[in-house]
Amino acid sequence: MPGLARWLRRTEIKAIHGEQLEAVLRQAGLWEPLMAGRLVCNFCGATIDQASIGCIVKKEGVFHACCSGLSCYMAARGEEVGGIG
Ligand SMILES: [Zn+2]
Repeated sequence: MPGLARWLRRTEIKAIHGEQLEAVLRQAGLWEPLMAGRLVCNFCGATIDQASIGCIVKKEGVFHACCSGLSCYMAARGEEVGGIG
């Protein structure tokens, strides 16, 4: 049942921690926007800094950042997450 495997993968969330942060964000192409203050949450639109980043989601092959807000984290669980962390 291919749908099940896809669902399981989609529910996996990669949290980002401390020293991994820069490497992970560089890999996703999100580090420079973060440093420039131009990185915003994919769900609520809030500006994200190093303290407020929650996770990364991959949508249609492009990485997006998600803030640490609970509602955004829950929203991120519905998105595909890939290759980070
Ligand atoms: Zn958010």
